[in-house]
Amino acid sequence: MPESEFQFRDGTLVCEDVDLSAVADRFGTPSYVYSKHAIVSRYRAYESALAGLRRRICYSVKANSNLSILDVLRAEGAGFDIVSGGELYRVLAAGGEASSVVFSGVGKTEGEIRFALQEEIHSFNCESLAEIETISRLAATLERTASIAIRVNPDVDAVTHPYISTGLREHKFGVDIATAEELYCYAAKLPAIVTEGVSCHIGSQLLTIDPLIEAADRIITLAERLRTRGLPIRHLDLGGGLGVPYRSSDPALSINALIDHIGPKIRALDLMLMLEPGRSVVAEAGVLLTRVLLTKQNGGKKFVVVDAAMNDLIRPALYQAHHEIVSVRQASGREHIQADVVGPICETGDFFARGRVIEAVEAGELLAIRTAGAYGFVLACNYNSRPRPCELLIDGSHISVAKRRESYEDLVRGESLSTIVHTDLETA
Ligand SMILES: *Cc1c(COP(=O)(O)O)cnc(C)c1O
Repeated sequence: MPESEFQFRDGTLVCEDVDLSAVADRFGTPSYVYSKHAIVSRYRAYESALAGLRRRICYSVKANSNLSILDVLRAEGAGFDIVSGGELYRVLAAGGEASSVVFSGVGKTEGEIRFALQEEIHSFNCESLAEIETISRLAATLERTASIAIRVNPDVDAVTHPYISTGLREHKFGVDIATAEELYCYAAKLPAIVTEGVSCHIGSQLLTIDPLIEAADRIITLAERLRTRGLPIRHLDLGGGLGVPYRSSDPALSINALIDHIGPKIRALDLMLMLEPGRSVVAEAGVLLTRVLLTKQNGGKKFVVVDAAMNDLIRPALYQAHHEIVSVRQASGREHIQADVVGPICETGDFFARGRVIEAVEAGELLAIRTAGAYGFVLACNYNSRPRPCELLIDGSHISVAKRRESYEDLVRGESLSTIVHTDLETA
């Protein structure tokens, strides 16, 4: 296991100084468990890689938006990359400064744009002409100025899963880099708009740095050209996307080669460098703890049925994602079996691993599904009326409940037995 915050001590998996089997006994399963130290150390690695540059590291809230985690990162000095009004609300609720927020996303509603303008966020990453016109109109009405960057599509192949690759010309994201210059010049003339930056985000779970370097080169060239045309470009935002080793054989990617390559240029242009890392800050900091309900055999195939399911962690079903699965208690000389590790939901897609060689486990034993800190809880839902798990944040030997486990009452909150009838709507 590469990450040192989760280790075996006396045959039991611990997170920092806390025994995970004790956690399961006290808080139940399934539970997400996060290491504060892991989050902080990965954030600081970005800070030190960018040392010497004007910089702002905006944690991508959608990777894990729990208030405790936003609070930890805010205390470290992070800014935030948001993709909705709800995420802005979370950042503010965690004590974050609106002035440290960039607002990304291909479709922002007028309500969300107004909220962001009123709170005076740092900037909008815009993805279309129509969006820029809307922001201009709303900003003028509110007598505010909107700083914008245009998210350009540098047309580089991020070489990742097709669902999380975003930087090719045919994707829905961004603006074609070939037409971006004209759009910038048009936007600069609109009321209440300042063309403050250039941004891109080419995809997620990148396992080589080369596509990012290529994209950076292209948008630096664009920034230079825009400056020549008199636009006040002040920052460069390279997005997020650095991958993490879900398998022990995956490489651990570092940002250093990118910074070595572009640092001198950024400094010469006196640009502020912004990044929007999500997964690489929180993924390795989390595990999903689950208990084995039973084991069974069907047609020669072994199944380990656990109490977590796809509603708790959907990544295997959605992205064919691989997560390492380990027994929380290690017994020496234990046999290994090849099995599917599955949840109780009536969907064939409800699995965590298929045909995986794992230690032979029995009912009642605990498993940890590794590298689950990003795009885990945030994608959880209540399918099959399953209350969502609790989230626990470990700091040394301290455990805080970052989110309590949902109850049955939570499941029906906002629902009613009789339909609320609206009689005041226009009829056709
Ligand atoms: C999702 C997203 C990120 C974060 O991506 P990671 O792969 O989690 O680092 C950053 N910027 C934008 C615009 C995104 O949509």
